[in-house]
Amino acid sequence: MLGAAAWRHVTEASAQPQQQRHQQQRQRQRRRASSLAEPAAAPDAATFPRQQQQHSNLQPPARSTQQQQQQQAQAHHHGAIELVVGPMFAGKTTELLRRVAQCEAAGLSVAVVKSNKDTRYCSASVVTHNGLKRPCYAAPSLAAFKAAAGEAYAGFHVIAVDEAQFFPDLRDFCTHAADHEHKRLILAGLDGDFQRQRFGQVLDLLPLADSVTKLTAHCKFCAQEQRRVAAVFSLRIAADSRQELVGGADVYAPVCRRHYVQLSSVRQQDDGGEMVEGGSGEERAM
Ligand SMILES: [Zn+2]
Repeated sequence: MLGAAAWRHVTEASAQPQQQRHQQQRQRQRRRASSLAEPAAAPDAATFPRQQQQHSNLQPPARSTQQQQQQQAQAHHHGAIELVVGPMFAGKTTELLRRVAQCEAAGLSVAVVKSNKDTRYCSASVVTHNGLKRPCYAAPSLAAFKAAAGEAYAGFHVIAVDEAQFFPDLRDFCTHAADHEHKRLILAGLDGDFQRQRFGQVLDLLPLADSVTKLTAHCKFCAQEQRRVAAVFSLRIAADSRQELVGGADVYAPVCRRHYVQLSSVRQQDDGGEMVEGGSGEERAM
């Protein structure tokens, strides 16, 4: 653990080179724009030998587009993990896409990834419940996404993962990507399943996260009583008598604590103590 003084030293020491790197990048971009005939790596070595020597222990000189992109990513961010959790219908994907738009407005390159288990709306896009849409990688694991992205992977400053609970390599991938590849990870997912148990590896990232945002939905059953109450749990609605209770075909409903306890116990009596299993993989996972 770093003491306060040591920490200040570390942050001050890293702040200055970052400013210089920005300056260096701007100068390099100007030179590249003014002379297209020059080879990419040569101007750096010829024009900025002093600066390069200063930072040679921090970053190697840029020699390829891939390395330059990586360098830009490091200059923009030193890696972070942002968790967005909450029950179904809490607006997690909307919040994810809002942060993605923010990053892109700031000129960062963003990859959006979702599990290919999640085929609720469209397999090639992340789609929110209210219809927002954005193209994405659909992959069974984050390692598979990295492989599919190929050379483009190094250029991503930000990796946004939807339905993070479905990824079997979530913890290790995100830790490595943030710590060593300096990626900014934005992860949206369910913190708990319909039985309020941990879901996938989302909770494993709590001690590794820079920020955690827990969103809430509105309780569907309180709304029927004309009350607006925050929903913190996802209730699974069995395909039996409960279906007419909600008057819809939805498999899950966002519920408050009172309704979760009330309706879970009703269902357990109905099901002889067992929660009913659904048909699709997604429902089973939930
Ligand atoms: Zn309620």
